[in-house]
Amino acid sequence: MRPPILDPLFAPLSALPGVGPRTAQLFARLLDAAPGEARVLDLLFHLPHTGIDRRARPTIADAVPGEVVTLTVRVTAHRPPPPGRSRAPYRVLVEDETGDVTLVFFSMVQTRLDKMLPLGAERLVSGRIELWDGRRQMVHPDRVLDPAEAEKLPPVEPVYGLTEGLSARYVTRIAGAALDRLPELPEWQDAAWLRRAGFPVFGEAMRGVHQPADMTPFLPEAPARRRLAYDELLATQLALALMRAQGRRKAGRSIAGDGRLTGAIRAALPFALTASQEKAVADIAGDLASPHRMVRLLQGDVGSGKTVVALMAMASAAEGGRQAALMAPTEILARQHHARLAPLAAAAGIEVGLLTGRDKGAERAETLARLASGDLKLVVGTHALFQEAVAFADLGLAVIDEQHRFGVHQRFALGRKGEAVDLLVMTATPIPRSLVLSYFGDMDVSLLTEKPAGRRPIDTRAVPLDRMDDVVAGLQRALAGGARAYWVCPLVAESETLDVAAAEERHAVLRQIFGDTVGLVHGKMPGRDKDAAMAAFQRGETKILVATTVIEVGVDVPEATIMVIEHAERFGLAQLHQLRGRVGRGAAQSSCVLLYKAPLGEVAKARLGVIRATEDGFRIAEEDLKLRGEGEILGTRQSGAPDFKLAQLALDADLIAAARDDARLILERDPKLTSPRGEALRLLLYLFERDEAIRLVRAG
Ligand code: ADP
Ligand code: MG
Repeated sequence: MRPPILDPLFAPLSALPGVGPRTAQLFARLLDAAPGEARVLDLLFHLPHTGIDRRARPTIADAVPGEVVTLTVRVTAHRPPPPGRSRAPYRVLVEDETGDVTLVFFSMVQTRLDKMLPLGAERLVSGRIELWDGRRQMVHPDRVLDPAEAEKLPPVEPVYGLTEGLSARYVTRIAGAALDRLPELPEWQDAAWLRRAGFPVFGEAMRGVHQPADMTPFLPEAPARRRLAYDELLATQLALALMRAQGRRKAGRSIAGDGRLTGAIRAALPFALTASQEKAVADIAGDLASPHRMVRLLQGDVGSGKTVVALMAMASAAEGGRQAALMAPTEILARQHHARLAPLAAAAGIEVGLLTGRDKGAERAETLARLASGDLKLVVGTHALFQEAVAFADLGLAVIDEQHRFGVHQRFALGRKGEAVDLLVMTATPIPRSLVLSYFGDMDVSLLTEKPAGRRPIDTRAVPLDRMDDVVAGLQRALAGGARAYWVCPLVAESETLDVAAAEERHAVLRQIFGDTVGLVHGKMPGRDKDAAMAAFQRGETKILVATTVIEVGVDVPEATIMVIEHAERFGLAQLHQLRGRVGRGAAQSSCVLLYKAPLGEVAKARLGVIRATEDGFRIAEEDLKLRGEGEILGTRQSGAPDFKLAQLALDADLIAAARDDARLILERDPKLTSPRGEALRLLLYLFERDEAIRLVRAG
């Protein structure tokens, strides 16, 4: 149970004065709250990324154009727009002893301006000063106050990420109300470390960032922000360390395969494994056989063949008499894995179940029953795999595909479905060591370094959108020769509806040209329609598949050799690489057309250049790191489920190692977290919702 002292932080935002049902909804969108309502805590963790400094109080003559200043002025004249030209701005002239400034307002009601800036009154006016036609002006001052209320003007105003309908001032006010709910919490950090690092206490750090007295909280090395980042990192490392300690204590379950099933699968494969696939399979078999709990990362670029390694691992578990589950991040991918793995497993005389959110009714009940009895050894699915209703007789291995799409929570959850479950996580993302640490603590890594033999480089070109006709003509020729193509439409906005509209429109246009050989798949389609569209493309009944980025992850149709990416300039490098990785999977020559809207910006140009220059995922990731931040590489921003809210891995990499050592030391001294500091650390785990780990302390 969560300690009651934290209750005010987990209360819904609508519990705060000034938040109504409508704004609560907007906050839920802003804060990316899971279905339901955003909580006080979510807003507190929504840190401002910079501030507006209003402390500069120059005279008008000294005010530097382009800067934000707060002026003390007297109102000398009102200049309403001339009659009949209500669109023209309303001007108010103000002055001090040194000069004058024109305040400019658009579509503002006169009565409001009369009240805000009465003729002859003294006012504090804060905003950005500009030169226009050689005269000083300020367009829509951010703040206009009576000097008597000068203390209402914050020295520095925090700048929050916003969403439509929530104004900066409103969010600032509600964040203030959220801060008022912050309880006095015991210190969970080591006192000596805090002193050495110069970190403030938690509450002070929160206040320092949300209600800044100056601009220091927004410096990269700001102690307040770093303190909060460290709290988050320690919570994560502690949770990971608890998981590992638990694994070690409970270990002693070795899964020894006899090669019966893996041998049969190997014989059924239409290809020979690459050397690095063989090495990974052997690594994993070794881990399974050892009495220690496996936590292994299988890292391999798109198309390097991770899935078959997963199957071999799962078959090893089954040989040892235990169950294995493979979890994929999307429905499409789960079904595809199932469709590919089931026949191979069948060759070894073993069945693979399927469990997704969409499988319902009698079939689902049967799958659940067979998993619970242990009759069904292997299963593939989505998040649905770790819901309450799912019980395994003896889960020995959990494989998680495209791991960065899942949160820490979800990884824990699957591991809890059995006793000392061995964990294999697979990713196409070349994760730097510091990130591996931050996500998993110490973990072993297997690398798939080469692509399966016989692959040819993908011919990648950038083509401006106004040459679309050429692309369509090229496509016509290729299709006549039997090719199959993806046509990806971009993420237009945050709005999925708009993306879908773009894809539907493209689909309609291409249908006019290519007839009903054009399929469509997007995230808003009912699951069955999605499957049907994928299956038709897989079987070659449709030759062109128009898609939104739902196909980005993992989809495998080796016969597809053409990838057209529309508005390629809107995609990130990692995404482009993933998308292109959908082709070039067979022996035939593949091509990728990056359709872009000219003129390209600097960054977009650089991105398309990188994609054209190389297919090496590691190099692309490196370039990506240069062009953007690490969060983007991990795709957390796209998945909408970032693991870290406060820590910024690019800035705080040094803290990750410190937090890991700290966590190790803590558990050496206080493995059950029962000392006073241990109790405080439990609060920390709850605060960052790493509390799954607390169950481990209790269970252990
Ligand atoms: P990813 O690592 O991106 O998940 P997949 O596991 O989907 O890649 O494999 C990509 C394609 O390569 C699949 O069609 C798969 O059957 C094929 N493949 C995997 N291993 C080999 C191999 N050793 N030789 C030839 N093809 C292979
Ligand atoms: Mg894959």
